[in-house]
Amino acid sequence: MPFDTILGQEKAHDYLKKLVRTQKVPGALLFYGPDGVGKAKTALEFAKALNCQDPLARQTGDACGVCASCKAISQGTHPDVTFADFIYQARLEVKKDFSSKGYQEELEKEIAKQQHINVDTIRDVTAKSQQKAVGNGWKVLIIDQAQTMQASAANALLKFIEEPPQKTVWILITSKRTAMLKTILSRCQPLGFSPLKDEQITQILTQSGAEIQYPDLCAKYSGGSVSGALKADQALTLLSAATFGPGGADAAGPAAVAAELSRTLVTARQEATAVLDVLFRALHNAWCQAPDENTRQLYQKTLERFENYKRSLTRNVSPALIVETALMSLDGLNVPVF
Ligand SMILES: [Zn+2]
Repeated sequence: MPFDTILGQEKAHDYLKKLVRTQKVPGALLFYGPDGVGKAKTALEFAKALNCQDPLARQTGDACGVCASCKAISQGTHPDVTFADFIYQARLEVKKDFSSKGYQEELEKEIAKQQHINVDTIRDVTAKSQQKAVGNGWKVLIIDQAQTMQASAANALLKFIEEPPQKTVWILITSKRTAMLKTILSRCQPLGFSPLKDEQITQILTQSGAEIQYPDLCAKYSGGSVSGALKADQALTLLSAATFGPGGADAAGPAAVAAELSRTLVTARQEATAVLDVLFRALHNAWCQAPDENTRQLYQKTLERFENYKRSLTRNVSPALIVETALMSLDGLNVPVF
């Protein structure tokens, strides 16, 4: 059944199925946990289960996945279900008509710019929350990346999540619960999502048909999330420009990897972040297995340097330079990457 198509979140799903069966749904839920573990997919499956036209759904707590309502939610066309993320926000911001020439390019540019959920988007969604439902099911309003809400946006949302109309549920999704306003947190019923196991990540990637160069390794460096695995795979592909031995990369390696980074600053920054994350995890593994205290301290110091490299990436330092320096700092250390 639809919930079962999302791996590794049985506990959260059991809780949500119970809400569907009893129809006792809190006015606002907070889905929290790492990025890329199925929070957004679960929110949509929950919306389907609440609105499913198959009478069995009410008994099992799970959607049929094939009725008109389920299909409309999958296609993003259900009038009572809103999924507000950066793409939704970018669509609101593009002034062109969606059928006009150049719309797609403008939309993509706008999506790349998004960093915060802003107050206009929240006003758009809260207005929807007040409209009468078209069907006789539930109104479901989902805000993704809720931790990025600007203070004005969060404040505009407060009273709506406090007392939503009957058969209305808000779902706030976040990977950084601590970055959210306490006033918002206190009004939401929290529901945690776990990091995924390596084998679950490999299974999801295989099913999705994604083109992966290092299926097992990228799961190991994923941090328990599918998006983490995809980034790790990209990083490993970049790192393969160097030859790694027991004492780190070969002499030409650091410059060779740095040269592989994109010429576009935004992309190069993302690539460099992924490379540093993989190296950091490899270092951390080596630190865990250090044979003696001296070696452990050496790894510890290098880990601290990596924290600085990561910070430098958010400032105005060249990503290529940081990647090169980071790789050179592993010189002489036994840090198996591949
Ligand atoms: Zn259905």
